Amino acid sequence: MTTSAGVATAPYGELAATLRGSLIMPADPGYDEARAVYNAMIDKHPAAIARCRDTADVITCVRFAREHGVELAVRGGGHNAAGLGVWDNALVIDLSLLRSTTVNPQNHTVRADAGCTWGDVDHATVAFGMATPSGFLASTGVPGLTLGGGIGYLSRRFGLTVDNLLSADVVLADGTFVTASENSHADLFWALRGGGGNFGVVTSFTFRCHDIGDHGTIIGGPVLYDLADTPSVMRWYRELLPSLPEELSGFIALMTIPPAPPFPEELWGRKSCGIVWCYTGPHDRADEVLEPVRSYGSPLLVGLQPMPFSMLQSAFDGLYPAGLQWYWRADFFNEISDAAIDVHVTYGEQLPTGHSTMHMYPIDGATSRVPEDATAFAYRDGGWAGIIVGVDPDPANAGLISQWARDYWQELHPASAGGAYINFLMEEGRDRVKASYRDNYDRLTQVKDRYDPGNTFHINQNIPPASGSNP
Ligand SMILES: Cc1cc2nc3c(=O)[nH]c(=O)nc-3n(C[C@H](O)[C@H](O)[C@H](O)COP(=O)(O)OP(=O)(O)OC[C@H]3O[C@@H](n4cnc5c(N)ncnc54)[C@H](O)[C@@H]3O)c2cc1C
Repeated sequence: MTTSAGVATAPYGELAATLRGSLIMPADPGYDEARAVYNAMIDKHPAAIARCRDTADVITCVRFAREHGVELAVRGGGHNAAGLGVWDNALVIDLSLLRSTTVNPQNHTVRADAGCTWGDVDHATVAFGMATPSGFLASTGVPGLTLGGGIGYLSRRFGLTVDNLLSADVVLADGTFVTASENSHADLFWALRGGGGNFGVVTSFTFRCHDIGDHGTIIGGPVLYDLADTPSVMRWYRELLPSLPEELSGFIALMTIPPAPPFPEELWGRKSCGIVWCYTGPHDRADEVLEPVRSYGSPLLVGLQPMPFSMLQSAFDGLYPAGLQWYWRADFFNEISDAAIDVHVTYGEQLPTGHSTMHMYPIDGATSRVPEDATAFAYRDGGWAGIIVGVDPDPANAGLISQWARDYWQELHPASAGGAYINFLMEEGRDRVKASYRDNYDRLTQVKDRYDPGNTFHINQNIPPASGSNP
């Protein structure tokens, strides 16, 4: 990421007059609300926020920014923890009004416009008994999650979100519009599948969908253990997961049991090691597949139950509303080593606030069968995407949660595979971005050179063009 002074003198009045959507300026009443993103630790003051109504508005903004030398930020769901959907002095292309979805049940596809959240997409597809792989939370934006890769409950069985992307409509840096797919602008399509927002503004995505569960009803929920059981639960989980059918996935977490229903009152506030499971196979096999999960150890709570996939996806949305303080650090892990488990035990005991947590998301099954150079997303050799998340509603605790996450990460990092999922990076510098793309990095810089040689799109985990332009 780079910054430069925005051009406050750009003729925003002219831009406002040409947009179908609205242009929100610092003096406007809705400005503070419009510049706020999911992570309340982010406090950026853009020059203007364009609430685009259609693709034409996006093209107009890209051309305006280039003509007047204004920095561009692009906001989808605004969920990025590093706050890359908004930037000081920039013109923000805000896509949040573009929330249309179209399901084609015959072709098993869904088209989602770039302002959709995953809740919008699940709502549309689960009605047809289908879903496309996304994440673990419904409120996350479709564009940012997709462009970084997309790791979720369905990834063991059907791959990452990008492995199910069929095409994307893109406004390029020169203001032209293309549709990228395997058959059209294949180099761009390759880069979009993991390369983040570096290559243009995507206005619409088309995904492949899959039949799941019993017409969209899956069996899922948390199984929680006492925090003291963390070492044995983690060892059991790391051995068990590879032996499970890919219809069953589960991420492991260290957490505090939320003080609210449906959790039993006697468990409220208790620290815990847990796994959130999701079984998407046929229900007549569920008992057999879930047997090892149900029979292990002495759980505090077994919350497995049938529910629409969309309900599991949105289960944590109430716990994590927009406007909390977030600081997180991440890495990929090829294994959960004994040394790593020791670190998890230490920092699990020190969870600084009730919302703070650690998650390890499986990167295996269908995800790891895709060759590393088939898409920009490079870490496919098995293991987990780990994330340490300091969260709290109170800004006074920002330092506390950040320090805990940094200390935890520092001690855990030697057990990692080196890079991190780019959607989980904070502002950590170019070497971390490079490490996250492994051997795909150079090819990404070449595609960047072809589609955005001036690095117009640099408010992101930036990949500079091979020729070196870097505003
Ligand atoms: C609570 C929480 C839970 C999460 N869970 C998961 C998870 O389960 N799985 C997972 O894979 N990730 C997860 N993430 C990470 C998530 O994928 C990223 O934060 C992602 O950036 C969010 O996308 P967004 O559209 O909401 O982001 P925004 O903040 O709007 O944008 C993020 C980045 O994407 C770029 N961008 C946004 N829209 C476009 C567009 N249309 N065209 C081009 N570039 C664009 C922006 O410029 C910016 O650089 C989670 C994040 C949070 C905060």
